[in-house]
Amino acid sequence: SKSAGRNCFTIYDEAMSAELEARNTLEGDLRDAIARCQLEVHYQPFMDAGTGARRGFEALVRWRHPVRGLIPPDQFIALAEETGLIVPLGEFVLRRACADAASWPSDLMVAVNLSPIQFKEADLFDVICAALHDSGLSPQRLEIEITESVLLERGAENHAFMERLKGIGIELALDDFGTGYSSLSYLTAFPFDKIKIDKSFIRSLTHQPRSSAIISSIVTLARGLDMAVTAEGVETSEEFERLKALGVNFAQGYLFGRPRPIAEIELDGPSSRSQ
Ligand code: C2E
Ligand code: CA
Ligand code: CA
Ligand code: CA
Repeated sequence: SKSAGRNCFTIYDEAMSAELEARNTLEGDLRDAIARCQLEVHYQPFMDAGTGARRGFEALVRWRHPVRGLIPPDQFIALAEETGLIVPLGEFVLRRACADAASWPSDLMVAVNLSPIQFKEADLFDVICAALHDSGLSPQRLEIEITESVLLERGAENHAFMERLKGIGIELALDDFGTGYSSLSYLTAFPFDKIKIDKSFIRSLTHQPRSSAIISSIVTLARGLDMAVTAEGVETSEEFERLKALGVNFAQGYLFGRPRPIAEIELDGPSSRSQ
């Protein structure tokens, strides 16, 4: 497909490598996709580990490309971050997620991923407030997931920003915990409600005794800091049983449901049990 980016401003140079060209095409296509609403938000449930009740859904973006089909975020989020397109993309996801969640039973939360690039935008707080206001979603039902890099760069500014979000009732989760470089002292300094343990730890749970020890110490640490713990990427009931025994508060993964388009989500009836 011809990309709008190339038609508009990019000067075509025969020396341009095929890779760079492909990247520019993808960038142009992504720009179009945002403008033409080809992005979709899918939802994956997360469960209260103690009761087995569904507690909410995480919003995960997908790109429905006219030629290439459904593209997962791992193939375009990094490009979106490099090009700044993550800003309009992220606002789209936030608005869509708030609007969708506003029609769910009011005990269900929605969790939205924010990129560190979005944190650098001066108007992010206003964007979030507008998404809440326009959708009518109560801020208490919105959870924002951020990764450790937000703590390392611009730590003081981001800390103040997080306090502002908490001040209006939004919950904060630290995503992919255990994969980054931040020390535990960083964690204690930030006002998180929840820590999401990366799925790599859950994957090795059944064959690496060390993983149990790591998860158990994260749970102990979190309790001391008055934070909850979510296990990500739970695929088997064996994993789930172990995680419950280790004291994890929430669980998310294919065992309970894959990310699905809004139309395929069951909201009626007892929403409490896993499949
Ligand atoms: P994440 O935030 O850590 O999201 C969890 C990822 O794990 C999702 O991949 C989800 O589909 C996958 N997953 C869930 N349960 C299981 C399981 O049981 N087993 C396995 N193997 N995987 C599981 P997905 O949807 O492909 O998203 C990948 C990443 O892309 C996300 O990781 C997040 O970092 C990023 N992303 C997705 N949507 C957004 C968005 O709207 N904004 C931003 N900034 N990033 C996003
Ligand atoms: Ca996440
Ligand atoms: Ca994660
Ligand atoms: Ca991630």
